[in-house]
Amino acid sequence: MLRQLIKKKLQNYRINLNNPDTSLPLNLQQPKSVAVIGGGIAGISAACNLSERGFQVHLYEKENYLGGKLGSWQFQSHGETLRTDHGFHGFFRQYLNLRNFLKKIGADKHLIPIGDYTILFEKNKRQGFQALDKTPVFNVWGLRKSGIIDWKTLINPYLLPFINLLQFDFATTYKKFDSESFTSFANRTKMNDKMRLVFSSFSRAFFAEPEDMSMAELIKSFHFYFLSNEDGLQYDFMDNNFQESLISYCQEFLNKHHVQIHYSTPVNELEKTDTGFMVNNKPFNYCVLCTDVKHTKNLMANAKGFEPFKNTVSKLTSLKQSGRYAVLRLWTDRFESDNNLPVFVLTDRLKCLDSVTFYHKAEKESADWSKKNKGGIFELHSYSVPKDLITDEEVKAHLLNEFYHYFPELQGMNILHEYFQHRDDFPGFHTNQYANRPEIKTDIAGFYVAGDWVKMNNCTMLMEAAYTSGAIAANYILQTEALQENKLESMPLKGIFA
Ligand SMILES: Cc1cc2nc3c(=O)[nH]c(=O)nc-3n(C[C@H](O)[C@H](O)[C@H](O)COP(=O)(O)OP(=O)(O)OC[C@H]3O[C@@H](n4cnc5c(N)ncnc54)[C@H](O)[C@@H]3O)c2cc1C
Repeated sequence: MLRQLIKKKLQNYRINLNNPDTSLPLNLQQPKSVAVIGGGIAGISAACNLSERGFQVHLYEKENYLGGKLGSWQFQSHGETLRTDHGFHGFFRQYLNLRNFLKKIGADKHLIPIGDYTILFEKNKRQGFQALDKTPVFNVWGLRKSGIIDWKTLINPYLLPFINLLQFDFATTYKKFDSESFTSFANRTKMNDKMRLVFSSFSRAFFAEPEDMSMAELIKSFHFYFLSNEDGLQYDFMDNNFQESLISYCQEFLNKHHVQIHYSTPVNELEKTDTGFMVNNKPFNYCVLCTDVKHTKNLMANAKGFEPFKNTVSKLTSLKQSGRYAVLRLWTDRFESDNNLPVFVLTDRLKCLDSVTFYHKAEKESADWSKKNKGGIFELHSYSVPKDLITDEEVKAHLLNEFYHYFPELQGMNILHEYFQHRDDFPGFHTNQYANRPEIKTDIAGFYVAGDWVKMNNCTMLMEAAYTSGAIAANYILQTEALQENKLESMPLKGIFA
């Protein structure tokens, strides 16, 4: 009975973001052109959603592969051709719009359930979440079994603000909590150590140090991933590299709908004209900017003809990046001794290492290499490189030492190949960013922005935010041309006690 009431209050755990008018036509009758800048998930989403309705879409990507942070490319090492992805990704069950898209293009058949969302602690201890009750509120209560919530939590008067986690609401949460960091919240509420660790691991999933992470964004993330639905922290991963399991399906769809994909073509020249936009000297009716925050700032700082739109330009040029993050993939001659771990685990982080992926058990191409060479492929992530680790060598050394700390049996292994990425192109979900975050629809007619960094009034995050924002930008253009919008969904917009 109580479970039914919770489900009803949380709108059956999903809501419609729009109600497309089915009496409107689907397809464009007169030619209209769109420049989509950036070929990550947001750009792919905008390009797919518009091209299938008859728009002439040109997709510009600065790299020689599509996918952005979901990209995959080959490289040479010691005479071998190997492949790496940008990094392991979890496709959470809450990603309603992205998953509908994966189904539509046929890529959903590559998704494999992870088993459990696992955090490794020192001394071989670990925390899983799979056994928790699925129903919201009951799932929180279940956390007491693992000590995340203890009896002191229940009598600690300082923890009253904790109830705000169950009260997520766009109208109030950002006003109250966007200026407060997770660290400050945890200190203020005298949060116990285990709960702190678990929350910190979520904050690092947003590439922010706990002292920088906006508590409002963290409350939204808890609402989205845990407190407003029955999907818990369960997710799926792709059974092969991103090129084979995902991007090739997107390319097939884009080719079928005549999208001209310009690889290795950074857009350096963007101009607003009287009739539309010039992108690298080619005219377009519409422009959807889907670049990452770092490149968006540069592009907009040099764009021409945007002077009358100071507010939009100022928001776009003052976007904040996360700190640095690192991804180190290792091809080795050894395997970990524990066969029962899921393919991806988070750590409680000694200093630098946030997660380990066991690629030899995660995907086909790696499994083939592993079988042939009788060795493991591991990927080590640091979502927020500590400020005192500067050079590549320092970061790599820390990642490896900490890896050996959790997996001492691998000390002394031979590293046959490695691929290292040390980047700073993730959006900063830091304190005091929300008010100035740009929205998809700008005050410039025909100009839209999309990506995991835009401000939206729906409950989506990361890959789902990137896909959904691209689809919403496409819907605005469909609306302008009096065409039927595509249907989009979201988790409920308010928490159970909001
Ligand atoms: C290591 C790692 C692990 C992650 N794990 C997860 C996870 O488990 N779950 C999850 O949901 N999310 C995860 N994410 C986040 C996820 O990858 C992003 O939220 C999402 O892919 C962002 O997509 P996007 O299209 O907004 O941006 P991007 O993927 O950054 O795409 C932007 C594109 O614009 C291109 N570009 C930039 N400037 C120009 C220019 N001037 N001209 C042309 N092209 C340009 C870039 O090359 C890029 O292809 C992870 C990210 C990383 C880095």
